[in-house]
Amino acid sequence: MDENRSFDVIIIGLGPVGAVVANLLAPFNISILIIEKNKMIHPTPRAIHFDGEVMRIFQNIGLSSYIKKISRPSFQGMHFVDKNNKTLLVRKANKDIGDQGWHNNWYFFQPDLEKILRNGLNRFNNVSFRLGENLIKIKDLKNNCILTTNSAFSNKKKSYLGKWVIGCDGANSLVSKKISKKVTDFGFDEKWLVIDLNIKKNSVRAKKLPNYTVQHCNPMRPMTRCCINSSKRRWEIKILPKDDLKKILQKKFLWSILSPWLTPDDAEIERAQIYTFHSIIKNKWRKNNMVIAGDSAHQSPPFLGQGLCAGFRDASSLAWRLAKIIKGRADNTLLDSYTNERKKHVLEFIKLATRCGQLINTGKKSLINKYFDSSLKKNKASFNYPKPQLGKGIWEYGKTPLGQITPQFLFRKRLLDEGAIYKFILLENCNLKNNLQYQDKKLLEEIEIKIISANKEIKSWLKTINANVALIRPDRYLYGFANDYSETNKLLNSLREKLETK
Ligand SMILES: Cc1cc2nc3c(=O)[nH]c(=O)nc-3n(C[C@H](O)[C@H](O)[C@H](O)COP(=O)(O)OP(=O)(O)OC[C@H]3O[C@@H](n4cnc5c(N)ncnc54)[C@H](O)[C@@H]3O)c2cc1C
Repeated sequence: MDENRSFDVIIIGLGPVGAVVANLLAPFNISILIIEKNKMIHPTPRAIHFDGEVMRIFQNIGLSSYIKKISRPSFQGMHFVDKNNKTLLVRKANKDIGDQGWHNNWYFFQPDLEKILRNGLNRFNNVSFRLGENLIKIKDLKNNCILTTNSAFSNKKKSYLGKWVIGCDGANSLVSKKISKKVTDFGFDEKWLVIDLNIKKNSVRAKKLPNYTVQHCNPMRPMTRCCINSSKRRWEIKILPKDDLKKILQKKFLWSILSPWLTPDDAEIERAQIYTFHSIIKNKWRKNNMVIAGDSAHQSPPFLGQGLCAGFRDASSLAWRLAKIIKGRADNTLLDSYTNERKKHVLEFIKLATRCGQLINTGKKSLINKYFDSSLKKNKASFNYPKPQLGKGIWEYGKTPLGQITPQFLFRKRLLDEGAIYKFILLENCNLKNNLQYQDKKLLEEIEIKIISANKEIKSWLKTINANVALIRPDRYLYGFANDYSETNKLLNSLREKLETK
């Protein structure tokens, strides 16, 4: 196979997750090919919300300043109301900057986001694209793969050799099927109608609508209403057995659903489309040198706005490991820890989203007590996004916050990660730098760990976890902590051993 056809990594699918994996991997200077069957960015958005942790991932690919410009921070959470519009439950929100160094919730128009992610890839000349090529066959040679594509335009077949293949090819992933067809299904399988609207500037009615998400927990017509920005809104409507599927996409039906809030004088329908919402996770995420991320690995009903966020977390968890393997600094089995860690984490979100779906479908108050807020103070039930611990993997198992996302601090007037973009960070408050021996320095260099001496804010966080030293991974999860030089030395050696485990 000639040089133009052979790559360290081939990413299948340039959806949002494929684009973030590529942006994270590219700075490691490995050869990357992206194969995408569509020539253009998908014009119809699916996701509209991401969280503060995801903005931190965008920061770690150097694109947060652009993405901030096309996104709207949201401060009022998500309100679940009953059939009489009485609030049952609120997903909490905060006006202040959240612990990730960014606002906790953002709304956006997906094609704008994807454009920035794709443009970001033009920064790297080690990334090649084959747009308009459809992956049709994978030959797994154990230590690499031969991929065959055809072109939607010429039907010409081409082959490529990939040392590693990452399937970011969405819900019908061919890469995932090649790894294994086994799936765990949590039972949510429903058709919902999604209507996106462009709001007219002079609409008084639209101005009166809330700028937060409302979940109508009404079994007569379960529904979600969302505000994307001042000119875009979305309705998601459950399709009921009584609905006539032939008429459901007709304007008459769409406006009859929207009529309590808006009329054609207020907005124009950008698109209406039926989606099937699932709650599934693939049992195997890796086989030999093939691995999956995003919707090819898991799908969640969108009630929490977290499906794509989970895909971005996969990307952030996967890229630093794969880079280490390709650079010969870690063993292939490091990717098994990616699977273990991410599966447990994403499951908590899928289960919670499924429970939200049950509440929206039934309006049953008993579900709030059971699943969300057992303290259930009168009319003030609320919940927050979970902060799951990772499954077993590359971290020192123990009590939280070990294996959890760490906060991002201000350091010298900048956000902490800016000084160590997508690298390990060792925060210390015990004059560690002066005690380091030659071997320690070598190890820090080898694993590319940046040491940062704690400022006041970091010191007070270290105090809350009873430590003087904290080791944070490139994806910003907490690897472990220590109290003095000797414990730190053990911590670093345990990390090295974990990376090298056969
Ligand atoms: C109505 C709705 C609302 C949602 N809202 C939210 C939200 O607010 N927040 C959130 O976090 N999540 C949300 N989600 C979930 C989110 O949209 C998905 O999780 C996300 O789009 C998955 O991204 P992905 O890159 O993994 O897959 P995709 O976006 O599906 O991208 C896969 C890419 O692979 C390409 N591809 C597939 N097969 C091949 C092949 N054989 N060869 C070459 N290319 C191929 C496709 O063309 C596509 O570009 C929502 C989902 C729905 C349906």
